[in-house]
Amino acid sequence: MTANTNQTILVTGAAGFLGSHLSEELLKKGHKVIGLDNLSSGSSKNLENIITLENFQFIEHDITDYIDIECGQIYNLACPASPVQYQNNPISTLTTNVIGTYNLLELAVKNEAKIFQASTSEVYGDPLEHPQKESYWGNVNPIGIRSCYDEGKRCAETLFFDYQREHKIQIRVGRIFNTYGPKMQSEDGRVISNFIVQALTGKPLTVYGAGNQTRSFCFVDDLIRGFVLLMENDQLSGPVNLGNPIEFTMIELAKKVIKLTSSNSEIIFEELPQDDPKMRRPDIHLAFQELGWSPSISLDEGLKQTIEYFKDAV
Ligand code: NAD
Ligand code: UDP
Repeated sequence: MTANTNQTILVTGAAGFLGSHLSEELLKKGHKVIGLDNLSSGSSKNLENIITLENFQFIEHDITDYIDIECGQIYNLACPASPVQYQNNPISTLTTNVIGTYNLLELAVKNEAKIFQASTSEVYGDPLEHPQKESYWGNVNPIGIRSCYDEGKRCAETLFFDYQREHKIQIRVGRIFNTYGPKMQSEDGRVISNFIVQALTGKPLTVYGAGNQTRSFCFVDDLIRGFVLLMENDQLSGPVNLGNPIEFTMIELAKKVIKLTSSNSEIIFEELPQDDPKMRRPDIHLAFQELGWSPSISLDEGLKQTIEYFKDAV
């Protein structure tokens, strides 16, 4: 089967922020989508636009238990992405990334399916190289509070490449940098949802530390376009950085959100969480050269769309 033929695609983490956008995009392209999720950090509300469509099927399931599903492609997005969420249940975060990923790779072998892994910039840890290229091996604390996620995702990448070497399956690994947009959970603790909800409800914006740490924020539509380009590419296994290379401090972000929401909220400073990366910015030359991909939506434009979403959601 060629990459562009319509086929059945399994999306794990389909009720989450990215998984629900990806499922919608794949359905628009004419594929049949099986969305699988244990609803731990996602919500069935995210699926309300597609749940009744004939080409969509939802299965409530935890990927740490093997499940046999016939499919031609698998996108593995199942895993909480917010530090607050993944640290709430660290052992489950780690087993999702290791045992869950192993189960899906076994399924890919059985179906001879192409499989995509939603990896992360967290594999670079608190980076000593800036911006981060795919060739950088990272600076990760193996025993800290972020390790269940960082090391789990690193181990998942290892499994992907070992399955490619041993079983000759087609793999695609995208390293996602901070992405935001409509359908994020208002309470999930990530910085953009926190700041917007705080600004819209007149509460102080909680900047952690001095707010000089940086992140590079990608709007969800740009990212999903990158996922599909990588999956449909004939040759590139990755890992490939997918993110917006424009970098902001958290103070700059807080001020931007206050301005765009015309909020009277003040900014307060709270303790910086342990092992919080000081800076993060993707080098996206590889995605640009091999996939012709680069983000096109500015932070201001993406924030405006996200603010509109949260006006109805909070
Ligand atoms: P999310 O928390 O909104 O979505 C994750 C989904 O996976 C949720 O619906 C959750 O219920 C489900 N899930 C978690 N554990 C599961 C399990 N064991 N079995 C079945 N379902 C399970 O997060 P998101 O932002 O949509 O992230 C999706 C993926 O992208 C994650 O793998 C995350 O690590 C990766 N990622 C996201 C970002 C980002 O900025 N959004 C950055 C880097 C990587
Ligand atoms: N952050 C913050 N205030 C908040 C939530 C997060 O200042 O209310 C900071 C956090 O310390 C980190 C950055 O914003 O430096 C991004 O945090 P997020 O949890 O969104 O993602 P991370 O990149 O840390 O995985």
